[in-house]
Amino acid sequence: MNGADKEEIVTLTASQMAEAMKKGELSSREIVEAELEVTKAVDPKTQSYLATCFNSAFMVADAVDQARALGQDLPDLAGVPIAVKDMIVTKGVETTVASKILKGWVPPYDATCVEKLKENGMPMLGKTNLDEFAQGSSTENSAFHPTFNPWDLERVPGGSGGGSAAAVSSFESPLALGTDTGGSIRQPASFTGSVGMKPTYGRVSRYGAISMASSLDQIGPCARTVEDAAMLFDAIAGYDPKDSTSIPDFPSSALKAAKEGKNGDLSGIRVGIISEAGGEGFSKDVMDGFLRGVNLLSSMGAQIEEQSFPHFLHGIQIYYILMPAEVSSNMSRYDGMRYGLRIMPPDATAASMMAATREQGFGSEVKRRIMLGTYVLSSGQYEKMYVAAQKVRTVIINDFEKAFESFDVLVCPTSPTTAFKAGEVVDPVTMYKNDIATIPANLAGLPAISVPAGLDSLGLPIGFQIMANRQKDELVFKVASALQEAVSKENEGPIWNKVPRLWKSGEND
Ligand code: GLN
Repeated sequence: MNGADKEEIVTLTASQMAEAMKKGELSSREIVEAELEVTKAVDPKTQSYLATCFNSAFMVADAVDQARALGQDLPDLAGVPIAVKDMIVTKGVETTVASKILKGWVPPYDATCVEKLKENGMPMLGKTNLDEFAQGSSTENSAFHPTFNPWDLERVPGGSGGGSAAAVSSFESPLALGTDTGGSIRQPASFTGSVGMKPTYGRVSRYGAISMASSLDQIGPCARTVEDAAMLFDAIAGYDPKDSTSIPDFPSSALKAAKEGKNGDLSGIRVGIISEAGGEGFSKDVMDGFLRGVNLLSSMGAQIEEQSFPHFLHGIQIYYILMPAEVSSNMSRYDGMRYGLRIMPPDATAASMMAATREQGFGSEVKRRIMLGTYVLSSGQYEKMYVAAQKVRTVIINDFEKAFESFDVLVCPTSPTTAFKAGEVVDPVTMYKNDIATIPANLAGLPAISVPAGLDSLGLPIGFQIMANRQKDELVFKVASALQEAVSKENEGPIWNKVPRLWKSGEND
């Protein structure tokens, strides 16, 4: 395969790949080969993956190609490769959550969404990097290595799902899965000019997603286009009896909605701008890009109005009470007894073994959150902090309910800034503030997407967030797809296509 072919193949969208395979113009093996070549050249720079599994990907690709040659009816995504965040368990493939405590753990089962990828015949290329246990906003908290932003290798790709976002935006994979507890799919999408969507809580099974904060966690799609994210959403959404919070009998039609959106007609759609998400901390470039996006929605017929949302910015404060409480409880299973790391000090007792294992196995951010969580759940603090935060969570949910009486979607910038430099943010609270605009959707269980709205003065992507009421995921895809199309027209081509080609020497080395 020559360079031109490789470039041509990996820069196709997932739906173009699917189409080309259907027409017999391209085989799944050729796609996986091209991704392998690009990954060999690009991954040493981005460090998107913790591990790759191209051998098994080729086996799946060949099986799909054979089935297609025999004329079998195959799912739309059959043969389209995908990367999976290492927060999601994969049978027979090491799953570490980027933590030393799980290094070497090979799960005996697949997450439900991974089973679905297999049913759809999608070759898995590898497991992507993340902040340890998905705790962070820059992918610098991985116990193994950081990931870098393909737009500027000195910058972070966001987090915690920086590996999935970097893989997708640097053409190492057309699609990826992420998990989003407070913004870990959307903020990395915003930093990398890609699309990331957090589904309604319960629409995608959490079975096999390693728990961070169970009442907030959701698995969702990462892609370069809204249409591709929608296709992947349709493939992974659906009721799962193995997840007690799964929504029953709710068929998805996200791809249809995304295609509708591409027509550019948003007449009748009421869009509320969250006025609080734009003040202190939000950069001028981000706000300019956001407002350009709002104008585009308006030019497509949407009715735009500002909406005050008095408790929106309080979301982050209660998130840092509720999330650590759930983290501290979920992390208690890593005790050196059942799986993962076990450190045996001399003359070990159960307690000293546990202490030594956790001391060496967990990184400092995870330890910080376990301590915070244990504190807010302690008898002196429980009522004052945990219970009070739960009440504020209800207030935020009610605010949303009320807003959705007047609006179909709510919009704001995905994150206050564009990608920052690696090592630049050292204070944890400053880091936490990255998620000020993404957290409220997790607290209320709402569907939300980040789609690029343009580039800032440094040429870095700006993310535009669209939220809708619970179970209105399709509407989110429709509006996002309309916006992506309009932004592409305004920028003479899609934003994702403007990223440096890192496989060419001299590009952003
Ligand atoms: N960045 C947020 C945090 O550090 C969100 C993490 C996530 O969504 N997994 O908690």
